[in-house]
Amino acid sequence: MSTLFRHLPSVAQALEALEVDPDISQFPRQLVKEQVNAFLDLCREEIRTGIIADAAALTLDALLPRLAAFVRSASRPHFRRVLNATGVVIHTNLGRSILARSAVEAVAHACAHYSNCEFDLGSGKRGSRYSHVEKILCDITGAEAALVVNNNAAAVLIMLETLARGREVIVSRGQLVEIGGSFRIPDVMAKSGAVLREVGATNRTHVHDYEQAIGDETAALMRVHTSNFRMVGFTREVSLPEMRLLGDRYGLPVLEDLGSGTLCDLAGEGLPGEPTVQQVVAQGADVVSFSGDKALGGPQAGIIVGRKEYVDRIKQNPLNRAVRIDKMTLAALEATLRLYLDMETARREVPTLRMITASQDSLRSKARRLAEAVRTELGDSAQVTLRKGFSRVGGGAFPEYDLPGTLVSVNLPGMSAESLRVALLGTDPPLVARIEDDALQLDPRTLTSSELKLTAEALRQAVDTIKDKA
Ligand SMILES: *Cc1c(COP(=O)(O)O)cnc(C)c1O
Repeated sequence: MSTLFRHLPSVAQALEALEVDPDISQFPRQLVKEQVNAFLDLCREEIRTGIIADAAALTLDALLPRLAAFVRSASRPHFRRVLNATGVVIHTNLGRSILARSAVEAVAHACAHYSNCEFDLGSGKRGSRYSHVEKILCDITGAEAALVVNNNAAAVLIMLETLARGREVIVSRGQLVEIGGSFRIPDVMAKSGAVLREVGATNRTHVHDYEQAIGDETAALMRVHTSNFRMVGFTREVSLPEMRLLGDRYGLPVLEDLGSGTLCDLAGEGLPGEPTVQQVVAQGADVVSFSGDKALGGPQAGIIVGRKEYVDRIKQNPLNRAVRIDKMTLAALEATLRLYLDMETARREVPTLRMITASQDSLRSKARRLAEAVRTELGDSAQVTLRKGFSRVGGGAFPEYDLPGTLVSVNLPGMSAESLRVALLGTDPPLVARIEDDALQLDPRTLTSSELKLTAEALRQAVDTIKDKA
């Protein structure tokens, strides 16, 4: 074994061999050198553990493909594109919504050039960054005023801090939700300085529960969308119109954290009735907050719309500066909102909406094309079949609701679905998919047409990696 170590190429030899690689020759030399050292350490480890037991495997020629792949993968940006074959449209771990083409272009412009970000071209003086989206948000939602901040968590925080700091906000026990671990209504409420006044039981809350809790300390009544769970059985929630009546009777504002917040009524698509932001505004919520990158299909943002007297107070809050929205986000948000001026255009152009509302026919046809591409890449040994399956909206919209569609199921003899799933995380680009019934399932709903070939190629890469290791 000890003689094997001497067959390893030197760092200088490895560097020289890598120089001809057009990609690697662009990388900083110091970084390449560190990676070569790390790779040679790995080889020494493989000699010690008996994985490499043959001097022929240690020639520079034999090692070069693996070495180049090792250096390339370590030198890639950490933030990367992935192929989402999970069928979860608003996948928080995969960056939630992808943007419409016009929004992508708007972002590129906003960062490549100076802009009127906070400059009023009419007067030549300082302007407001919110002016770019306030009018369009009011036009679409029917609200009197609007404001955008960093995300919906920030929107809820600043709404409560402004309107209820040091006083009580009444919320149903059935709505004290936790979203993704780091956002819990009671915790955000505490951070805002507002005092949570819980009412009702977990499954049932009545108008009189709220009414009995109203007192001198009450600042607002609040409703929270139960985004990621669904209550069934013996349940009762107080509706927004009922809450509005109560608010009017006691002179209290009604706040609504809508969570996902859709601008487009999807009831016609067979999706369960989620209220749109327009409906919530029309039913009299005083302040409504929702995310920009959930069902809206835009960039990460927290959107606040509502009555002018309240929204104006939120705008004046010094905390606003700490949660302010960036110019790239503003550009993307305005471009996305412009698509909603015509709902048909929005359904066609906003990828999130397009994926949610995709027809059975289009999903089946995409699944067929994907299956064909996979067969072409993997050959006859692969079992590639179409099957009925379900996708999810994700992002706390339409909780627990399954979207029916067609999946491409892939089985390879002698290879476990789990080893395939793991190997796919290491392809370029990486592919994220799920396993069901012991087979890898690819959901074409969340893959664009131009990604079908890339998906098939990723599978080919994954299979090659598994074979190389065996
Ligand atoms: C998602 C969600 C939030 C948090 O929104 P972010 O935009 O992720 O900050 C808050 N409240 C509800 C009800 C949600 O669904």
